[in-house]
Amino acid sequence: MKYAILGAGMSGATIAHALHQQGHEVIAFDKGRGVGGRMSSRRTDHGAVDHGAQYFTAQTPEFLDAVHLWMQEGWVQRWGDQIVASSGDERRLSTSVQRFIGTPIMTGPIKGLLAQVETHTQHTAKRVYRQDHAWWIQVAELSEAIGPFDAVISSVPLPQLPPLFDALPPQWLAQWSGITMTPCWALMVDWGRAAPDAFDGWFVNDTFIDWIAQNDRKPGRIGQPHWTLHATESWSQVHEEDAPESVIAQARQWLIDRGFGPPNTITAHRWRYARSQGEAAEAAYWDEGLRLGVVGDWLGGGRVEGAWRSARALLKHL
Ligand SMILES: Cc1cc2nc3c(=O)[nH]c(=O)nc-3n(C[C@H](O)[C@H](O)[C@H](O)COP(=O)(O)OP(=O)(O)OC[C@H]3O[C@@H](n4cnc5c(N)ncnc54)[C@H](O)[C@@H]3O)c2cc1C
Repeated sequence: MKYAILGAGMSGATIAHALHQQGHEVIAFDKGRGVGGRMSSRRTDHGAVDHGAQYFTAQTPEFLDAVHLWMQEGWVQRWGDQIVASSGDERRLSTSVQRFIGTPIMTGPIKGLLAQVETHTQHTAKRVYRQDHAWWIQVAELSEAIGPFDAVISSVPLPQLPPLFDALPPQWLAQWSGITMTPCWALMVDWGRAAPDAFDGWFVNDTFIDWIAQNDRKPGRIGQPHWTLHATESWSQVHEEDAPESVIAQARQWLIDRGFGPPNTITAHRWRYARSQGEAAEAAYWDEGLRLGVVGDWLGGGRVEGAWRSARALLKHL
């Protein structure tokens, strides 16, 4: 079988890797400059900064087994001895779960999974259609459609999926109607000097910033002190359409008010579809007649583990 995989984040990379291992011809496409999706990092003058997923956990034995293999490959490491959670002025160590990060940046496992898979970045699927019993993909960056493919598997976030297809099975759309995806503003803070506090990560809890990570303290990261701040889901929803300059100004003021002093520079990135809410009946969808599959974190229970889980669930259908 010749498969096209739309999207090269955790779910797309997992299914692409597995199908390639089974001997199928697999080609992955992603609109981004690199692979990784919401696990990607922003390149700066002072190294790469993780601005999407900060770490991941492994709640199920199956995913933990996969993570252990990735650790042996050098794609992943344990991280987070110094994660603190605060409430008011009180801070305590958060040791309840084991956390993992990709190395040397978050995309470590994605790049590992896709190492043998033909992957085309900066290929934005615009229209995916069937012609003469085969699939074709119209890509925004090219004048000719790419194909034919025997099967297509989408791993794009739910809101970006229906516009790609002329029609999707109506029962799928009905089952996904309760799922929404919410935004998150991420801020990358370059201190230009020693960072004003020492921790790996910090659940802030009482403000519009709910998470801070000290990026340069993660194993494998190089460069000068950098923090990644995430705004809360509710604040990000209210301020979704704000200009980045306005979000940066509020983050700068917050850092000053908190006594950290002014940073060197701050850059902002809005993740429009950061996290999913709601559940579908299945963790992955497959239509044998159409030879069309759908995976993604939004089907698998959310987060990195949910993306992996969804891809593994599709394999069972295939
Ligand atoms: C700010 C933030 C913080 C997070 N924190 C955590 C965390 O701490 N722990 C955790 O476990 N999870 C976290 N997550 C969630 C986690 O990153 C995701 O659940 C997971 O990475 C999703 O993987 P995926 O493959 O389902 O989707 P994605 O990673 O979104 O992959 C989909 C891919 O499809 C591509 N794409 C979309 N449309 C097209 C198109 N038309 N043509 C071609 N390609 C297309 C995109 O470029 C993307 O690469 C966080 C996410 C964000 C944004």
